[in-house]
Amino acid sequence: ATPAATMVGTAIGASHGILFKGGDVLERVRDVDTVIFDKTGTLTKGEMTLTDVRVLRPETDGSGVVSTDDTSEYEGDELTEEFLLDVAASAEAGSEHPIAEAVVEGARDRGIDVSDPAALQNVAGKGIRARTDHGDVLVGKPELLREYDVDPSPAEETMATLEREGKTAMLVARVPDDAETGRLLGVLAVADEVKSESQTAVSALRERGLTVMLVTGDNERTARAVAEQVGIDPENVRAGVLPEDKASVVEDIQSDGRRAMMVGDGVNDAPALAAAFVGTALGSGTDVAIEAADVTLMRDDPADVLRAINVSEGTLAKIK
Ligand code: ADP
Ligand code: MG
Repeated sequence: ATPAATMVGTAIGASHGILFKGGDVLERVRDVDTVIFDKTGTLTKGEMTLTDVRVLRPETDGSGVVSTDDTSEYEGDELTEEFLLDVAASAEAGSEHPIAEAVVEGARDRGIDVSDPAALQNVAGKGIRARTDHGDVLVGKPELLREYDVDPSPAEETMATLEREGKTAMLVARVPDDAETGRLLGVLAVADEVKSESQTAVSALRERGLTVMLVTGDNERTARAVAEQVGIDPENVRAGVLPEDKASVVEDIQSDGRRAMMVGDGVNDAPALAAAFVGTALGSGTDVAIEAADVTLMRDDPADVLRAINVSEGTLAKIK
């Protein structure tokens, strides 16, 4: 494009809060044929709320076998919803993940006095392990518990039900100081509302002939429930993607010559934004994501993806 056309396109974009990092980006955007959305904070609001607290009592753990020894592992604490939430929140208080913030806020709302853990270990894409007043606590995915030899299977049904509702469910386990292995205490779920613009944004892109995909670290069931709400086909969902694998998922999608725009907001998304033909960050996203991106959508509106493509096409049409 001529410098004048680029200036006009850049200005029109800016008037909609769409920032292109240079004229070459403005030209590239119209060639995008696939749009890959991150889920949390991109298609959803990214403001999680605690919705469910489910205690797994020994007699209801699904095995049908009640062992009298089971209760001794609670060190005299009665396993109530409040206790479960207290244990989880005292671990999550050390994490800055949106899930963690929802758990801590949910606990405080229910009058629980939450204290910070003495130590915290983030297990990327899987959850946390923390040293708390209640002993060592695990909060996260089934894989996390398995890593520490805690069997997550008694919670399978409960998790599946919550996930089909589009919620993110997580397991809570405790390793008491005097015990070798941990014990599964229960399940928590958080929900994140889909942005009101997401569904229209997806259908407008699809009407234009673009392929729309979803990539997330969240589990398959939750991802599919959200995909269904916004109109993304199940075969275009890539779930359970670890932070370090998001970029290779983008590369894989592009390996057959597709030109993908990755749209994301988190630190997790930065390598994928860099790997994509066009990386698009949301203005409310982390600085790392914005730096890695070619385009920034200041209004955080997924519908601005199509607007960005329109601006790019319009700019190039004028110079022909
Ligand atoms: P996303 O790609 O959706 O932004 P992340 O990669 O940050 O997600 O996390 C992926 C999954 O790991 C979450 O859906 C959750 O199951 C689990 N997880 C991550 N951090 C935490 C945490 N602090 N507490 C509980 N679960 C967590
Ligand atoms: Mg995100």
